[in-house]
Amino acid sequence: MENKPSPLFAQTIIDWYQRHKRALPWRDTTDPYLIWLSEVILQQTRVAQGLPYFRRFAEAYPTVQQLAAAPQDEVLRLWQGLGYYSRARNMHHTAQQIVQEYGSVFPSRYEELLKLRGVGGYTAAAIASFAFREKVAVLDGNVFRVLARVFGLSDDIAAPASRKVFQQLANELIPANAPDTFNQAIMEFGAIQCTPVMPDCLFCPFQQSCFAFNHGLVQELPVKSKAKAARARFFHYMVFVHDGEYYMRKRLSGDIWEGLYDFYLHESDSKTLDTARLLKELNDAGIAVEESHLLAPRKEYKHVLSHQKITARFYLIQLDFRLKEEVLQEARLAPYSSEKIEALPKPILIDSYLKDEKILLNL
Ligand code: SF4
Repeated sequence: MENKPSPLFAQTIIDWYQRHKRALPWRDTTDPYLIWLSEVILQQTRVAQGLPYFRRFAEAYPTVQQLAAAPQDEVLRLWQGLGYYSRARNMHHTAQQIVQEYGSVFPSRYEELLKLRGVGGYTAAAIASFAFREKVAVLDGNVFRVLARVFGLSDDIAAPASRKVFQQLANELIPANAPDTFNQAIMEFGAIQCTPVMPDCLFCPFQQSCFAFNHGLVQELPVKSKAKAARARFFHYMVFVHDGEYYMRKRLSGDIWEGLYDFYLHESDSKTLDTARLLKELNDAGIAVEESHLLAPRKEYKHVLSHQKITARFYLIQLDFRLKEEVLQEARLAPYSSEKIEALPKPILIDSYLKDEKILLNL
């Protein structure tokens, strides 16, 4: 580290925050439930995108008891479009844990909060400091960037070992009399002043002392090693339809989109469908389909997740018979009308297809 920590840092960043902070609904509350809700929603999501989701959840479930009592399908449906669905499942599970194990009272200490499912160091620090004013510093992408630039830290922020270095510095900087405001301030500063690309150095209160600015290293800091290339996956969806009902299934654990609904999936290692293999697979599953039933897909859908790039094609297959009960059970499929599909939680890729094909009624 090149610049030494000083109490001036906290004062400067808090002053800046008082002048520039955005009015956001979760900043007007010390209710740990609402703070937790906002933090879960905002992880890996921009504020503009997360805000309507926060409002929807806070309105549908104003208390942790109401969230805990909601059916999982409903929670996932409300979450639809935000991605990272395990966050929604964990959130739902944690709400139930708080009701059952903590008598609906949120734990108030950082160490206790860490025991909740899906609550990592960042979220625990945010709840403990914002709701209970515990002196524990938050570390998120914004904080890493601000500290790396102002203090000249060149540790790779993607390496787990670097976390300790940044945490130690942040813990030295956070003031005991305003841990909540300090944490809000440093995150907000990273979000709107010291941004990843084109930070506003010209009108920055740290310009004189900022290590990166004074050494021409603003674009180089923070140091972040490249993530592994995303894995390419090719999904061929068989959309069986009979008598106005579409056969869908709930995805299981062990892969992406657990608990969401999609269609019969044939996955392959290329975007070209191996028809012979598919027909054999369907036949083995008791679904007698001939090659002439497979209409060429009109469009290709692409969906990028953090570690996967999905290319999907949909084959609409009109069946002139209803699939037998044992076949449905084996393939885990069930028929759904358009109205029922509307209420199901679905990956955004499936939702786009349903809308393109005008299968969903309320477009
Ligand atoms: S001078 Fe630039 S790089 Fe340094 S803290 Fe300010 S905005 Fe960030």
